[in-house]
Amino acid sequence: MQWVFLGCPGVGKGTYASRLALGLRVPHIAMGDLVRQELKRDSPLSKELKDLVSRGKLLPDELVLGLLTKRLEEASANQDVGFILDGFPRTASQAKTLDSIASITLVVNLRLREDVLVAKCLGRRICSQCHGNFNVANVDVPETETLPRIFMPAILPPPRCLKKMTMRSDDTEEVIRERVRIYSLESRPVEDYYRAQGKLLDFEILGGIPETWPRLLSALNLQGKIANTSLVSAEKQKIAA
Ligand SMILES: [Zn+2]
Repeated sequence: MQWVFLGCPGVGKGTYASRLALGLRVPHIAMGDLVRQELKRDSPLSKELKDLVSRGKLLPDELVLGLLTKRLEEASANQDVGFILDGFPRTASQAKTLDSIASITLVVNLRLREDVLVAKCLGRRICSQCHGNFNVANVDVPETETLPRIFMPAILPPPRCLKKMTMRSDDTEEVIRERVRIYSLESRPVEDYYRAQGKLLDFEILGGIPETWPRLLSALNLQGKIANTSLVSAEKQKIAA
């Protein structure tokens, strides 16, 4: 089971990939986490990374692939039965290189209509005290002849957090639309690459997590194969750790 999750920033890719990885007992390998972990180390590589990040440079493929190769070797030494990769590959060239170090079996492409994605990103709030994540956007787009209804209710904070709500400084409409534009440009060749290999599964998000999670399991033929109870306790363990 060597899976890749694709999806625009803000679509909830990390949430679904990590839930699924917990339920299937395989590591969730998020490229962003690998980079952050390396930055905390005291190594020549970490110095090089810090320098690039501080100058606002994109990380070269070679460097990102080095981190990923190391992580995949750990997984294989751990005798993991697979992994779910998130945040990589971003380009078709990275996808081709990935084929030389892994055997990707499935690529889940999470999709969400752009206007809904923008509304949900603009609605994101974080509590400055407990760091809880909330969303004040209440999305309800009625169904049309060609498109199904999209219903994503707000996730409102409890009263004690209400006065401590903050927004991410990069969650402005302009920045979000630019993120979406760059993502679409880069991701199309990646999607085409995997579609040509017959590995791409397009999955349209039409609701919040409680509605989307069972639909995703069903699209992956995993209904009944992931116990909800073990999932909840696994998530609690992860939080406790
Ligand atoms: Zn709070």
